[in-house]
Amino acid sequence: MRERIQKLEQSARRLDPGEEERDALLSAASDYAREFLRGLPGKKTYVRDDSRRGLDSRFDEAGLPIDSVLAEYRREVDTTGILPASGGQMGYIPGGGLFPSALGDFLADISNRYSGVSFASPGAAEMESALVRWMCGVAGYPESAAGDLASGGSLATLSALVTARDHHGITHRVIPDACIYLTAQAHHCVDGALHVAGLGAVRRRVVPMDAAYRMDTIALQGMLEADLQQGLKPWLVVASAGTTDTGAVDPVDAVADICARFGLWFHLDAAYGGFFRLCDEARERLSAMGRADSIVMDPHKGLGLPYGCGAVLVRDGPLLARSFTYYADYMQDAISRERVTTGHYSPADLSPELTRPFRGPRMWFPLKLFGLAPFRAALSEKIWLARYFHREIARIEGFVAGPAPDLSIVTFRYCPARGNEEEANHQLLQAVHDDGRVFITSTRINGRFTLRLAVLNFRTHLEQIDYLLELLREASRNLQSTNG
Ligand SMILES: *Cc1c(COP(=O)(O)O)cnc(C)c1O
Repeated sequence: MRERIQKLEQSARRLDPGEEERDALLSAASDYAREFLRGLPGKKTYVRDDSRRGLDSRFDEAGLPIDSVLAEYRREVDTTGILPASGGQMGYIPGGGLFPSALGDFLADISNRYSGVSFASPGAAEMESALVRWMCGVAGYPESAAGDLASGGSLATLSALVTARDHHGITHRVIPDACIYLTAQAHHCVDGALHVAGLGAVRRRVVPMDAAYRMDTIALQGMLEADLQQGLKPWLVVASAGTTDTGAVDPVDAVADICARFGLWFHLDAAYGGFFRLCDEARERLSAMGRADSIVMDPHKGLGLPYGCGAVLVRDGPLLARSFTYYADYMQDAISRERVTTGHYSPADLSPELTRPFRGPRMWFPLKLFGLAPFRAALSEKIWLARYFHREIARIEGFVAGPAPDLSIVTFRYCPARGNEEEANHQLLQAVHDDGRVFITSTRINGRFTLRLAVLNFRTHLEQIDYLLELLREASRNLQSTNG
C-alpha cells in the first residue's frame, strides 16, 4: 500500500513546483505583464471578433511549457473584444486594474489566507474590516456602520436589499401590497436582486425624473401619499449616486428627508459614483450619502481595482449581521466567541458567502503604496475631462450635448442637417468601433438613440478625449459629405 501511495505522490508532487521552476514561471508571467503594459498605449481598445469557435476543452494528461500556455492565452483571450485596462475604454462604466492590486492578489493567492472568520486569520479578517471602515468613512457613515467586500455591485446590492427586506418584515404575506420606488434609470441589478431576494412580485413604482434624469422627489412624495391612501405598504426607495446611463446623481438629501418622514429604507446605489466623494468637485453633490440606510460602491470602478470587488455598507451595521449571521456545528471552533459577547463580527457574518477570495490585499496595497492623493486627483481629473468633452462636443457642427455631467458621464447625439438622425448616430458609433483606438457605447434615452461617454479608467487622460473628439469630428464630416 505504501508503495502505491508513494507512486501517486511522485506524480501528485507535480502540483507543487520547486523553487527553480517557480522562479521560471514567475519570470515568464512577469515578462508577459511587462510586454502587455508596455504595448498598451498603442493597442486598440476594441477589436471585434466574429470568427471565434471556442477554446479547446481538451486538457492533455501531460502539461505544456509555460511559453506555449502564455502564447495560447495571448492569442485566445488577450487580443479581441474590449480591453478594460486601456485608457481608451470609455464605454461601459470603466473598470481598472491597478498594478499593485495584481501584486496583492498574487500574494493573497499564494498564502490563500481565509479572511471570512477572525479565528482562521485574524489579520486577514481585520484587513477587510478596516477597508470597510475606511469606505464607511468615505461615505460619511457613523461608527455603527458595517459592510462587506463582495464580488461586485450586483451581489452587494443583493445583500443590501435582503437586509432592507428583513428589517421591514417584507414576508410573503406583505409582498402583494409592498411598494418600492425607483426611476427608470435605476441599474438593472436592482431588478435582479429583488428577484433573487424573493421580492419579484412587489409593486415597482417608476418615479419621474427631471430634465437632467434625476429623481423628481415631489413626484416621489405624491406617489407615496397615493399608495398609503390606498392602504398599500411603501418600504423602499432606491436612488442612484451616479446612474450608469447618464451619470445623474439623484437628490440624495431630499430623498433621505422623504424616507425619514415616511419611515422607508433608503438604498443608495453609488456603485459607479460613490468614490467621487473623495474629491472636492463632487463632495457637495454627494454630501448627504451618509443619510442612506444602505450604500453600494464598487472599488472595481471608481477606485481602479481589477474586476471582482464591490462593497455593501449598512448604516446600522447590526442589521446586516442579522440577515447574514448563521451557525453550524461544524463551525463551532471558528465562530468567534467575541461575536456573541461584543457584537464584533467577522466578514463571513455579514455576507452570503462563506469561502471567498481574500479580497483585502488588492485594495490595501494600492491605498498604502500610492496614498490617497493620486486617487483624489484621478477622480477630479475624470470630472474635468467629462466637463471638457461636454463643452467641446457641442462646438462640433451638428452635435448636441446632453445635460452638464453631474460626475463623469456625458450623453450626446449627432443631429445631421439632412438624413435620418438615428441612422447617422449608428454610423458614427460604428466608425468609432471600427477605428477601435477608443471605445464608447450607445443607449436609449426617452426612446432616442443616444451616444454616451463614461470617463473613469485611471489611464484615461486628455489625450484619449481629444482623440475621440477628433474621430467624431472627422466621422461626422464624412457622413455629411456622403449624405450631402
Ligand atoms: C456597475 C453598476 C452596478 C452593478 O455593479 P457590478 O459591479 O457590475 O455588479 C450597479 N449600479 C450601478 C449604478 C453601476 O454602475
